[in-house]
Amino acid sequence: MAKKHKKGWKTRSTGRFGPRYGLKIRRRVIAIEEQMRRWHRCPRCDRLSVRRVGTGIWKCLKCDLVFSGGAYVPHTPAGVIATRTIKRLSEAGESAVMPEEKEEA
Ligand SMILES: [Zn+2]
Repeated sequence: MAKKHKKGWKTRSTGRFGPRYGLKIRRRVIAIEEQMRRWHRCPRCDRLSVRRVGTGIWKCLKCDLVFSGGAYVPHTPAGVIATRTIKRLSEAGESAVMPEEKEEA
């Protein structure tokens, strides 16, 4: 006799869709949702205690830090590049970032 599987072991989180939408796209949903519901590392206290609160909102349950990030993962590749660019521009000096506000002051 074949090895028995627990109910829902194959459909996992997409079991709620039943047989609809096709297998390939349901597998993509599984991949995203399992990553979304995983514990993530906190950027402040470095512990694996960050959970998703809502779309793009992440919260560390240890140090109560709430921060914005990707819709399904705390840090997207595009977000990392944007953060790096902002940091580099702000290090170059405020005059390079906000030239108009400097003139008014
Ligand atoms: Zn934390």
